Amino acid sequence: MAKLEPRGRKVKILATVGPASREPEMLRKLLMAGVDAFRVNMSHGEHADHARAIEAIRALEKEFARPIAILADLQGPKLRVGSFKDGSAVIRHGSRFTLDRDVTPGDESRVQLPHPELFEVLHKGQRLLINDGKLRLRVVEAGHDRIVCTAEVGGVISDRKGVNVPDALIPIPALTDKDRRDLAFAIQHGADWIGLSFVQRPEDVAEARRLMGGYGALCAKIEKPAAVKQLDAILELSDGVMVARGDLGVELNPEEVPPLQKRIVETARSVGKPVIVATQMLESMIESPAPTRAEVSDVANAVYDGADAVMLSAETAAGQWPVEAVTIMSRIAQEVERDPGYKGRIRFHQTIPERTTADALAHACMTIADTVSISAIVVFTGSGATARRVARERPSTPMMVLTPSTSTARRVALLWGAHAIMTRDIGSFEEMIGKGKRMALRNGFAEAGSKLIALAGVPFGTPGATNLLHVVTVNGDELKRHKAGDTD
Ligand code: PEP
Repeated sequence: MAKLEPRGRKVKILATVGPASREPEMLRKLLMAGVDAFRVNMSHGEHADHARAIEAIRALEKEFARPIAILADLQGPKLRVGSFKDGSAVIRHGSRFTLDRDVTPGDESRVQLPHPELFEVLHKGQRLLINDGKLRLRVVEAGHDRIVCTAEVGGVISDRKGVNVPDALIPIPALTDKDRRDLAFAIQHGADWIGLSFVQRPEDVAEARRLMGGYGALCAKIEKPAAVKQLDAILELSDGVMVARGDLGVELNPEEVPPLQKRIVETARSVGKPVIVATQMLESMIESPAPTRAEVSDVANAVYDGADAVMLSAETAAGQWPVEAVTIMSRIAQEVERDPGYKGRIRFHQTIPERTTADALAHACMTIADTVSISAIVVFTGSGATARRVARERPSTPMMVLTPSTSTARRVALLWGAHAIMTRDIGSFEEMIGKGKRMALRNGFAEAGSKLIALAGVPFGTPGATNLLHVVTVNGDELKRHKAGDTD
């Protein structure tokens, strides 16, 4: 079997698949360079292309015996203007521009806004941001059929350009018809995580969950000021969140994004749910083989913030240097995690254990690992909840996650520090300890004399029953048996 060493870092790398990376050979290179999870962006490409990429990723997973998460990112209710007579028009600085319900192609004075909901909610003084905020309009008059604006920042506007409306809560469903078709596709093709775009309120997450019908894990993308205001409630209903800095930086002033990034990472961490920092992390590498110093700092700071994962978008989806982007991202993370100051920084945020046995034991793992030399924490889990509790503590020690559940093994590929290994069901305490030691030896997490912490719930297979913490030492005989080719 092809071999992939443990990553040597705790933070995970999520890479977007696209025209530059969807061929099996390139996906293989990206995995070998350090990708832990792939994002299939439903905003672009055809289902047939996504299906082929997913199939190739699953083949790699088998070849390397390394669980890989696939995140299917739904486009969400993205708002767009209609089209123009000549494909585009120039809106002059300070001029009037009207958005209306008329399907006639637009010009420099007006265009269709094919979203009837917006006419009901927009008011004088609110902003409309077009083409990633490059054009900025302010409403001077809002009626049932037309919204008259002044162009505070003018420029070229072209067919179907995106519109952001940061100041209003828009009464639109969380999932469009396209999203529903894409969700059905994602479920049919076994995606592990579903990304929900343009979440505005907790009800959007609840609605998506209902449509998912208990399938997979849900990652709410935080990209609207309205979602920021209800972060706690959204987090409670989600399995993880993404700091979607692209749209967030359009809807808010860009300088508001860094403090928000820290707040979202901190809040998600405190409830033990994975948080991904996304967008423009190594943007210049779309065209250049080396990142800028500022980009290197940005990735490093997300790692210091304690994010579970950092994401590459166009760098791997459409860039010229996808492998190099993953390689440098991995090297930055490794360097940060080697910094003696990293542990202190990452723990600046005190997580308060819930008053449960499971949380108390997860917390104890970290204090034991800080007090005596421990090579790895071996977590036995069905649902992955125990692994999340341990990851929440951000222990310095590596964490192996042994699970009989394929979906859990794949899902924790986005969880800080989790190295997942698929096992058969465990029947007894002795079997658990034996397996934990063998897996630690086989995966390079232990040698003779190494101490391991085993964390599990007995009886085995009872969800939420974490009640056992055991410190074991790997002895010389076990190492000899391992070297002699002991198999499971
Ligand atoms: C973002 O806006 O940062 C983001 C991740 O969303 P998308 O790339 O899907 O627009």
